[in-house]
Amino acid sequence: MSTFKIAIDGPAGAGKSTIAKKAAAQMDFVYIDTGAMYRAIGLAAVRQGLRPDSDISGIVDMLPDVNIDLAYGENGQEIFLNGENVSTEIRLPEISVAASDVSKIPEVRAKLLELQRSIAEKTDVIMDGRDIGTVVLPDAQLKIFLTASVEERARRRFEELKEKGIECDFEEVKRDMEYRDKNDSEREIAPLRPAEDSVVLDTTGNTLEQSVELILGLIKERREV
Ligand code: C5P
Repeated sequence: MSTFKIAIDGPAGAGKSTIAKKAAAQMDFVYIDTGAMYRAIGLAAVRQGLRPDSDISGIVDMLPDVNIDLAYGENGQEIFLNGENVSTEIRLPEISVAASDVSKIPEVRAKLLELQRSIAEKTDVIMDGRDIGTVVLPDAQLKIFLTASVEERARRRFEELKEKGIECDFEEVKRDMEYRDKNDSEREIAPLRPAEDSVVLDTTGNTLEQSVELILGLIKERREV
């Protein structure tokens, strides 16, 4: 029997991961955060002293030695880079930017695409990212494109980082977000854009609960078809 796949795409800070996590828990789906995979490769590059925006051949050469594994426990998805749990370190603001830079490299995308598809073949998933509905899972039974104003997304991300004890400045968070929006939407391969058959939801002004309810409603509707 084929698995049930839900794709959630959208820009940084639109609420994809928080909403997808809650919906996955209620529906008994596995939540896959693909951004964490790009972040792990960004972190590997930074650790090797490579510049994610310009050392393209160095990053491509490094890829065969980069092993990414996911595990699921009490804290949800945990990500391992060559056996080391890097789930916290990948959230640092400089790694967000590094992830966006390495995500433009075709070899990086090819490596992660394979990993992402192989997971979705084995189990029902809610997968979030930028190109899930358009490239990774074009046959997903439900595709959602979540967005919100840049001001609101930056505010949400700033609060989230503060809660995690990561020091940051609001203007810097907003600037990084604008940089990533531009990078992600303008890159040549797998740019950020809604799939033609996606449901576009603007969450500006919504509470988290309202957005989760909306999405749970869509999932239930689609599963009954
Ligand atoms: O989702 P998150 O903000 O953690 O993703 C970090 C970066 O990884 C994004 O800015 C984007 O450049 C890249 N990414 C991507 N394709 C995905 C998921 C993330 O290019 N499917």
